[in-house]
Amino acid sequence: MAKYEVIIIGGGPAGLTAGLYTSRAGLKSLLIERGIFGGQIVNATLVENYPGFPEGISGSELGSLMQQQAVRYGLEVVTAEVTSLAQEQPYSVSTTEGSFEAAAIIIAAGSEYRKLGVIGEERLSGHGVSYCATCDGFFFRGREVAVVGGGDTAITDALELTRHVSKVYVIHRRDQLRAGQVLQQGAFAQPKLEFIWSTVVEEVLGEKLLSGLKLRNVKTGQQSILEVAGVFVAVGLMPNSQLFFNIVDLDDAGYIITDEMMATSAPGIFAAGDIRRNSARQIASAVGDGVTAAMSAFKYVQELGNGATITNP
Ligand code: NAP
Repeated sequence: MAKYEVIIIGGGPAGLTAGLYTSRAGLKSLLIERGIFGGQIVNATLVENYPGFPEGISGSELGSLMQQQAVRYGLEVVTAEVTSLAQEQPYSVSTTEGSFEAAAIIIAAGSEYRKLGVIGEERLSGHGVSYCATCDGFFFRGREVAVVGGGDTAITDALELTRHVSKVYVIHRRDQLRAGQVLQQGAFAQPKLEFIWSTVVEEVLGEKLLSGLKLRNVKTGQQSILEVAGVFVAVGLMPNSQLFFNIVDLDDAGYIITDEMMATSAPGIFAAGDIRRNSARQIASAVGDGVTAAMSAFKYVQELGNGATITNP
């Protein structure tokens, strides 16, 4: 079995940054990614809020640059799906491309936006369908858009969007919001917001670009068409933490609980980026998490080499 000092699971900004730092620190490091290096950002046509790129940069280019930089300093990468992580030290990671072993693990497997699962959603993703108001709101300047969902994210997104767009329809499947009271008060006082209650999206309409939504009122069954230039789907996230539930502590929503040094409940296992509780879910914050996790992993491996018995706090 190939042996490493650190194995990083997930090749988004958090994982690639962790790999850059552990490799530059001289640790023998392997990064395992099941899809495209760069993670979720490869879907972003233009990233305008990552410092250092005043004109913006495409998500896929940014991901590719991050990978090149980490590999240049010695990070080994493999494209494979992780199938299990052993509970004992040294940690054995089984994948579709074989098994690997390491003293320390950094979990940076990210999260996925929950989808509506309706016709047109996938086809028009990036062409009017968005899952990130912070990333894409700017592109809809002066237009009318919709937000789907009634939780904190939906209302935060809707309020943020009012800074750019002329009107935001909030489409919620119930007649009461799940979002916190303060957000609700702000939303009800915002004249650019209009609520469409007890309603679900049945179809996303449009050929090459989104042109509207087919809606259905769940109480009356009545269908209608809403003409909007974009829809922001904010119906929750799903952390990719299923494999780790019996290894590290998760919160009720499935996010990995870490301390400020990215340490999890298991010694030598660290978590970074969107998969951890309280992540800001931004590229810049994921990169910061990656740095901290790498430094913690480095310290852990060094102390382990000195014969110390280590437990995470
Ligand atoms: P969430 O709290 O799970 O809310 C998801 C919303 O989407 C709910 O209103 C839900 O409806 C709706 N929904 C779920 N599946 C749906 C479907 N298939 N079709 C239509 N609607 C659907 O998720 P979230 O808003 O992303 O928040 C996640 C966590 O982050 C929460 O703990 C939240 O408090 C936190 N957060 C906090 C802030 C803040 O404090 N400013 C900002 C963002 C997120 P129902 O209400 O009917 O279930």
